[in-house]
Amino acid sequence: MLVKDVAICIRAVDYSETSQIVTFFTRRTGKISAIAKGSKRPKSKFDGPVEVFSHGKIVFSDSNREKLATLTEFEQQPWRGSLASNLFALNCCFFATELVNSLTDDYDPHPELFDSFLRFLQNINEIRDTLHASRDSLVLLILFQLALLKEVGLMPILNACVNCKTRYAIRDTRYEVYFSSSANGLICRDCEASFPDKIRLTRNAANALSNLKLIADANEEVLSEIEKILIHHFTDTLGRRPKMAKHILGTIPSS
Ligand SMILES: [Zn+2]
Repeated sequence: MLVKDVAICIRAVDYSETSQIVTFFTRRTGKISAIAKGSKRPKSKFDGPVEVFSHGKIVFSDSNREKLATLTEFEQQPWRGSLASNLFALNCCFFATELVNSLTDDYDPHPELFDSFLRFLQNINEIRDTLHASRDSLVLLILFQLALLKEVGLMPILNACVNCKTRYAIRDTRYEVYFSSSANGLICRDCEASFPDKIRLTRNAANALSNLKLIADANEEVLSEIEKILIHHFTDTLGRRPKMAKHILGTIPSS
């Protein structure tokens, strides 16, 4: 059966001299792996080897989901903006891609996640301001990571203590706040002793997490703190540290 969809390539490995095995995140079918026969030939019908992050219309035959699908058509559109020139932006995209690959299953569609992922790639590719490119990339990465957690049903509770349900109040400066990955959200001072894995948050990071509109204008210190929390949370959720995490933490823009 031939299936038409739109897709983003999230992985591409060489299979032979002339072919690749490619993994796509598609809008209506979810994640699929396919063989792209002849993709590395000079006159490939895919306009050259299939590249990670390239996106476009796709046709594949999926006669048996136990086996690899066969890629028949892919009008790949590469990125020519920031993704071609800014290493931190590129690493943010590799990290987002690794997370999408790790947190979704084959043939399990998430159309809204697909739309968020495509928008994330488009927005990061359009960043032009070189002075703030890294900070802006990190904002987009954080917002995408939160959208991803929401779409796969793992969104942490960020507006109240998960344990006692006391609402987090931005103005209440006595409210010490922690994040616990095992509790999947914020934990207040009265409850923190029961959660050995908790990490104390600064007021600014807690404020931004409880009101995501503040993230776009947060300073680099706050963004770094939030990204560290998210990496900790993804590590806990996946049971392993994402491979790309070191390329984000090691190069987080300093304030
Ligand atoms: Zn509490």
